[in-house]
Amino acid sequence: MSPKIIHGICVYCSDPRPENANLWKHIKNYLIPENQRFTPVGSLGAPVALARPGDFPVKFASIMEDVDFALEEFSESRFIVVGHDCGIYKRLAPRKFSLQDKIADVAAAAEFLRNRFPGMPVSAFFKREGHGFDQIS
Ligand SMILES: [Zn+2]
Repeated sequence: MSPKIIHGICVYCSDPRPENANLWKHIKNYLIPENQRFTPVGSLGAPVALARPGDFPVKFASIMEDVDFALEEFSESRFIVVGHDCGIYKRLAPRKFSLQDKIADVAAAAEFLRNRFPGMPVSAFFKREGHGFDQIS
């Protein structure tokens, strides 16, 4: 009997630059056990768009279209949301955002998914530059 494979959705910032993020590589290495398969729903600043849909309406809609499709087709049973000290906040200048604000946005993105999809477990992580992942919710 083969072990049951857990399927989920990972919403994360797709910044590939190794000095800044390369989140998907680290997520696969550190957050997804071998018996789990997560659908990558990556977009630059994705967790920020879920936390601030009014600032990123097109990105928000695109992410949710991917999430809805994956939920319909792939038997997903949970979410993980992964953010970092994201460059997309430059788009929101002159507003300023502290690291704590950015961590709070990843938590808000997770809370949005919990409210939108009741009963689906949602975990949230923040990748600090040069460090591992902090679980924030
Ligand atoms: Zn980013």
